[in-house]
Amino acid sequence: MSFLEYAPAPESRAILKLRDEYGLFIGGEFRPGRGQSFATISPADETHIATIASADDADVDDAVAAARRAYEKTWSKMSGRDRGKYLFRIARLVQERARELAVAESLDNGKPIKESRDVDVPLVAAWFFYYAGWADKLDYAGLGPDPRSLGVAGQVIPWNFPLLMLAWKIAPALAAGNTVVLKPAETTPLSALIFAEILQQADLPPGVVNIVTGAGATGAAVVRHPDVNKVAFTGSTGVGREIAKAVAGTDKKLTLELGGKAANIVFEDAPIDQAIEGIVNGIFFNQGHVCCAGSRLLVQESIHDEVVDRLKNRLSTLRLGDPLDKNTDIGAINSREQLDRIRELSRIGEEEGAERWSADCVIPDSGFWFAPTIFTNVQASHRIARDEIFGPVLSVLTFRTPAEAIEKANNTPYGLSAGIWTDKGSRILAVADRLRAGVVWANTFNRFDPASPFGGYKESGYGREGGRHGLAAYLKSGSASVGGRRVEARRAKKEVSA
Ligand code: NAD
Repeated sequence: MSFLEYAPAPESRAILKLRDEYGLFIGGEFRPGRGQSFATISPADETHIATIASADDADVDDAVAAARRAYEKTWSKMSGRDRGKYLFRIARLVQERARELAVAESLDNGKPIKESRDVDVPLVAAWFFYYAGWADKLDYAGLGPDPRSLGVAGQVIPWNFPLLMLAWKIAPALAAGNTVVLKPAETTPLSALIFAEILQQADLPPGVVNIVTGAGATGAAVVRHPDVNKVAFTGSTGVGREIAKAVAGTDKKLTLELGGKAANIVFEDAPIDQAIEGIVNGIFFNQGHVCCAGSRLLVQESIHDEVVDRLKNRLSTLRLGDPLDKNTDIGAINSREQLDRIRELSRIGEEEGAERWSADCVIPDSGFWFAPTIFTNVQASHRIARDEIFGPVLSVLTFRTPAEAIEKANNTPYGLSAGIWTDKGSRILAVADRLRAGVVWANTFNRFDPASPFGGYKESGYGREGGRHGLAAYLKSGSASVGGRRVEARRAKKEVSA
């Protein structure tokens, strides 16, 4: 046994009080779905977790009707102060049940417990606390006087951050006075259903939040429903395109948070130790199932060999295995389908001439796993430099000058995020200014804060989540421009002349 070997440290599953079957959460109660139920499994060992109801069109109809009733009878009539109290209550209950939620998330999604426990769930609580604070202050959000809610929001989310994406969607919608029908991803419905129990515990008025489980057809029924006023979608660019078409020509407001292929740019004067940790966090956090992952490493040619060597050393120390083990760094790939996609794109990478290196880890016998992998000698035209792999695979490219780095970073149909590593503040500002990405991190990566807007350029989608920009997506624009700059400018002018 080497001195760096760890004893197993699995988190207990005893805290989970799972039901065998979960229904749809409509009008404040669980009820059976009319569609074909399906199983949710643990991607770490393919064992059955629970049977999940599937909502058909009639169920979605009921959920939207429940949301409409709740909107008209209670939620839109309630003061912001009272809505805020419910949101604070939900945030506190998430904190109280944090361990249970973290275990459920790691079990259903495959992500390491240290991430669900220390990142996902604390951020979920933070999102509800943050928007709870806005609920009675909408007049001061710079979105015009007396901003109004939209009505019923139909929200569809992916599997990579199941509970966090739910929080990003539900917290601003409720703070702004809307009611919700949300569809979780079919491979990760569990934490949303436990969240529905939290809503019961919080005594949230029935129908304010409805959760309909099912596959893509259920999502399509939600976004196409004629009585939905706002559609918010996070997921793949392909499905996002379909939704944009379905919503075109209606008066539904739309937010799309789609894919990414972020450049993480490392200049030769960067603090290398920190940059190595940042690169690892940028692409291997959550098995690379991160829309804003730093999946393209752009490293200045003079330090390429040093960075790649150090990265390989660092990756060799990462522990892959049981997501519920507190020492695990790399968990399971969420589904067989996703694993096949990662394998296929990696195979194409080798075929196109890039050089593949994978960490030498023991892969468990059952479940879906992929060792952390680096491709060097990658050309900008390679598929692994262009397509979103959405897995623990890093493509390394080089550059010589800042201008070349910027050009290569922007050479993508996406534009969600980017990272810059350098010792010079002036270079950070100059480069960040020219990157076509919604979020640019400097000397860090994958940092999230509810007060900070997040969203994409180009094929990464449109609209922003987080911050007061995230509220704008759930309010009627009125006389204000999005972001409220016009109104603010007018107010400022008045103050000056007064
Ligand atoms: P996906 O688009 O296949 O599925 C996302 C959700 O949409 C699921 O709930 C799915 O059931 C539903 N869906 C599928 N077809 C639908 C349809 N026709 N109409 C309505 N809903 C439909 O994506 P995925 O594989 O679950 O998630 C991975 C993708 O999500 C990646 O591309 C990733 O970059 C993106 N993502 C983006 C962000 C962001 O904020 N930009 C965050 C997380 C994930």
